[in-house]
Amino acid sequence: SAFSDLGLAEWAIQTCKELGMRKPTPVQTHCIPKILAGRDVLGIAQTGSGKTAAFALPILNRLAEDPYGVFALVITPTRELAFQLAEQFRALGSCLHLRCSVVVGGMDMITQAKALVSRPHVVVATPGRVKVLLEENPDIPKVFQRTKFLVLDEADRVLDVGFEEELSVIFQCLPKNRQTLLFSATMTSNLQTLLELSANKAYFYEA
Ligand code: AMP
Repeated sequence: SAFSDLGLAEWAIQTCKELGMRKPTPVQTHCIPKILAGRDVLGIAQTGSGKTAAFALPILNRLAEDPYGVFALVITPTRELAFQLAEQFRALGSCLHLRCSVVVGGMDMITQAKALVSRPHVVVATPGRVKVLLEENPDIPKVFQRTKFLVLDEADRVLDVGFEEELSVIFQCLPKNRQTLLFSATMTSNLQTLLELSANKAYFYEA
């Protein structure tokens, strides 16, 4: 299949071409149309499979139609992954004037709080830091109250390192009608549990 078969806007197809993405990878072919259709998705996919673009492209497509408030919160287990994800979002969203913030530990919290209050389109975060900001700054929960997408990237690792408390604080601040996208290298019982909480009927992809 081709990027033009997946329901993406012309600008997104063009951006893929400019970035040297000639044709969609399997995770992209399967997941992009489901995400555009509003489904929750659990994708079992390794790093290198193109999973980041599999969720970033449909999120950016929806954002281009409705650029209101924080649109997507992307949770990932490490700082390094957070910066890599933000870089891919910026590259794929280069013609949207995308505002993307990284919220991770080890960096100034006041700067991060200010960045969040300015309502970026996409927030890429590690669970610990976003939880602290949500709990300690009364302006921050409001920032997330209309979030359209929650992504857990490397979800098996996020769930494995004992982030239950952080995730439950984060989940409480997000609207129930959001779309949830879980991408994981392996299927785990924690993921199964999380999937069962899904409000939308989830689509399951495994290579
Ligand atoms: P990921 O699996 O998201 O870590 O992506 C791995 C790498 O593959 C990234 O550097 C992407 O830029 C690249 N990539 C993603 N989708 C495609 C594609 N359809 N064709 C070629 N490269 C891609």
